[in-house]
Amino acid sequence: MKRKGFERQNIAQLAGYVPGEQRSDVAVIKLNTNESPYPTSPKVQDAIATVGIESLRRYPQPTADRFRSTAASVHQVAIENVIATRGGDELLRLLLTTYVDPGACVGMTDPTYSLYPVLTAIQDAKVVSIPLEADWSLPQNFSSQINANHCQLTFIVNPHAPSGRLIGQAALQVLASEIEGILVIDEAYVDFVSDEDHDLTQWAIASDNIVLLRTLSKGYGLAGLRVGYGIGPVHLIEPMLHKTRDSYNLDAISQQLADVALGDQAYAKSVWAKVRASRNDLKRALQDLGLAVSASESNFLLATVPSECALSAEALYEGLKAAHILVRYFADDRLKDKLRITIGTPQENAQLLAQLTALLRGGQSTASR
Ligand SMILES: *Cc1c(COP(=O)(O)O)cnc(C)c1O
Repeated sequence: MKRKGFERQNIAQLAGYVPGEQRSDVAVIKLNTNESPYPTSPKVQDAIATVGIESLRRYPQPTADRFRSTAASVHQVAIENVIATRGGDELLRLLLTTYVDPGACVGMTDPTYSLYPVLTAIQDAKVVSIPLEADWSLPQNFSSQINANHCQLTFIVNPHAPSGRLIGQAALQVLASEIEGILVIDEAYVDFVSDEDHDLTQWAIASDNIVLLRTLSKGYGLAGLRVGYGIGPVHLIEPMLHKTRDSYNLDAISQQLADVALGDQAYAKSVWAKVRASRNDLKRALQDLGLAVSASESNFLLATVPSECALSAEALYEGLKAAHILVRYFADDRLKDKLRITIGTPQENAQLLAQLTALLRGGQSTASR
């Protein structure tokens, strides 16, 4: 008989992160995990062709210097202000293992990115979850609650997931000055913010307690490559870069391709502009269907299905799924009447709208079964 019970108690009690559904059939319209609807820069395709097996014989450059130097020049910071990680998710884990003692408190909002409580539990730290207001803004006493619990680290996702709401720089500066611990501003979706002047990088590197998270998974169409990075003052970046990180956290191919994708800012910006335009169109169309849509500065929309609608949010989610259109449904109390919909291409958005229209009219799915 196999022995059981080897897990640490916090791991045994952990439910684990539930990622959005990934289906391999290409026919599905995938609007459930906020991936880019467009491929990454064509220069990445060219770079893939230049990868030779001989180059894979050696270990990669440990600290991804070329990629970090490109990131540093894109953001006009020093290379020492940047750490490259296996997706933004690895940065989250490094922040916790480097800066949070087991048993200590980690602050976050409710709702938020559902990976934060899972990673906090793996570190055997305590989650301090502070409910957002009805309009998804921070409550007045947010920082005093964070400080009362002596949170060593606090996660804010901005623009917020799953609502898309953006907190402006002035409000964040007040927050960062009030909060006694580290403030991690997760900017996974910042590429889609309309205001091109929204840029926290110079402020973050000059700060005492701010780390910004960036990823190539959303704005650069590279979720499959697994590359993200952190930006912050050297005293916060350095311990993760030289002590807690896996020595070869980014493989050679990822480093090379991520460097090319990040370096092609012109292409990336053209994609973000298309997504923003589609966001406005899709929002208006969803409102025309009778749904309430939160203001979003992200590449997704959070749509509330009013109680007078023919179908509930969950029934719409199921109806769309039956028609091979995936959106995200969260059963949580505050989200159970809502759908989170990733902005797709104009054709994908049109198909989504056609299917939603059919479902709301009480008609059958338009897809052939
Ligand atoms: C996607 C995402 C990340 C990072 O994802 P990676 O694919 O690991 O880079 C981090 N935070 C939020 C809120 C996200 O949505």
